[in-house]
Amino acid sequence: MGSLHESHILVTRWVLGDGKTIKFWKDRWLDEPIVNRIDPNDAVYYNLNDVTSAFIMDGTWNIPDQLKTSHPEINDEISKIIIPIVPSIEDICWESTTNGVLNSKTAYELLRSHGTATTWGNKIWHYFLPPRKSLLLWRVLNRSLPTDDRVTKTGCAMVSRCSICLSSAESIDHLFLECSTTKSVCKWLEQIFERRIVCSSYNSILNGIWSSGFGK
Ligand SMILES: [Zn+2]
Repeated sequence: MGSLHESHILVTRWVLGDGKTIKFWKDRWLDEPIVNRIDPNDAVYYNLNDVTSAFIMDGTWNIPDQLKTSHPEINDEISKIIIPIVPSIEDICWESTTNGVLNSKTAYELLRSHGTATTWGNKIWHYFLPPRKSLLLWRVLNRSLPTDDRVTKTGCAMVSRCSICLSSAESIDHLFLECSTTKSVCKWLEQIFERRIVCSSYNSILNGIWSSGFGK
């Protein structure tokens, strides 16, 4: 899980108030901090410390001509920001929430790892399947069962043999794809589901079963 500090820059934006807090060049009060777009050299960067109020005159924007000319798109974006008639305190707004206020649920969603989308997730986690079977399938598809090949990789020397066919070393792929008994089970499933079930990959087996209308 990432840190809130790493994530907040991407999802927060300053909301203009009296212009005395927001750093015009470096804070994210537009879609992106202005310095990211103008790419100043180091010497210039360290001197870009003006607050936003320095560019407001008599209630309107007073953008430097040089910036207007070199980056008219920035000027356009700034001109769309409404300057409050009554100056208010400036604050960080969370863009991921509708009211701009960070709550614990949103923070958790931002920080948690979302992992990689799979094509099989909704096929194995289904009310039609007992949870224990779903968990077994999940472990097969994530290759997390303690089969002999994985145990051997941890440094534990052992003689491996499939306890079903007794003719090959034990691995997840052997047990669930390659073993002669597994192939027989696939044939049996073909009769049950009246579908061709290709026993060449986990996805092809799941797709074969689900294409029969299983679970609907
Ligand atoms: Zn076997």
